[in-house]
Amino acid sequence: ASKKDDGNHVTVYDAELDAEYTFRRKIEEALRLAIRSPDEFYMLYQPIVNARTMELHSVEALARWNCASLGPIAPDVFISVAEKSGLIVQLGSLLLKKIFCDMQCRPDLRFNINISPLQLLSSGFIPTLTRLLGEHSISPSRIEIELTEGVLVSNCDTVQAQLKQLRQMGITTALDDFGTGFSSIGYLQKMPLDTLKIDRSFVSGLGDDKVLANVLHSIVSLGRTLGKSITAEGVETLYEAEILADVGCHYLQGYLFSRPQPLDQILKAAGNGHSLTGEPCAQQLRRA
Ligand code: C2E
Ligand code: MG
Ligand code: MG
Ligand code: MG
Repeated sequence: ASKKDDGNHVTVYDAELDAEYTFRRKIEEALRLAIRSPDEFYMLYQPIVNARTMELHSVEALARWNCASLGPIAPDVFISVAEKSGLIVQLGSLLLKKIFCDMQCRPDLRFNINISPLQLLSSGFIPTLTRLLGEHSISPSRIEIELTEGVLVSNCDTVQAQLKQLRQMGITTALDDFGTGFSSIGYLQKMPLDTLKIDRSFVSGLGDDKVLANVLHSIVSLGRTLGKSITAEGVETLYEAEILADVGCHYLQGYLFSRPQPLDQILKAAGNGHSLTGEPCAQQLRRA
């Protein structure tokens, strides 16, 4: 299990793998139980703002799990365990239900919803979504579904068909973490995606990389030429926000404006250099 074959290395590496494997198995067991007591899961919401006016555009729903036996588990971890164990379809519809209840509480907001590619490809997905829309009397135009690149590329035709169906329903779609995957320009042009969300790894480099602003400018121009709406993720400083707005991003999201928070703490107004929590952005910056 190691490139070096000195005995110690192999042992250390295997022990690490083993611990990782055991940890993920524990999470999987706990996840199976938790899906039957869905109170352990809750949603937080992070604002996405208009890059010119800084006004609230929509909120992204981000899942949290406070596991009864293991404590809080990060979504990157439990979502990937759920994907690998096949639990994601059940977990995904459980989370969807919570989000739809919240959507009913805040009819003034648009919601971005993360969907695992496996969930999108499952046969029950569109029917579940259609049922929830009806039950909660939600207009599909208030929803944007976010997908990551990974599985999308390999199941191109099926994914394309599902995205088309979402579009016919009036739901928009976004490619999440854009720039970290392998989408070709042809793929982007072909896929019925409305929005590109530029991954935060590009944004966080802006401070000390002069070339990056030009690279971003090119990416954003390409996206705009393809008719996509562009959102930048992980915006933490005013400096980043200004560059991203200058290079043509339509929307911005990140700690600068707000961390993910409970829905009832999302305020409607923003702008004038004020964050969505009501305090000046600059003040938030000084504290960071
Ligand atoms: P994502 O969809 O790309 O969500 C953005 C992540 O970046 C969130 O992490 C958010 O808290 C974090 N973030 C936002 N602004 C900033 C910033 O300025 N700086 C930094 N350093 N981070 C920022 P989170 O909440 O831990 O979620 C991680 C990932 O887990 C998400 O990435 C998404 O892929 C997945 N995920 C979360 N909730 C769900 C869900 O309900 N369903 C599915 N399928 N996946 C989910
Ligand atoms: Mg997302
Ligand atoms: Mg992302
Ligand atoms: Mg991500």
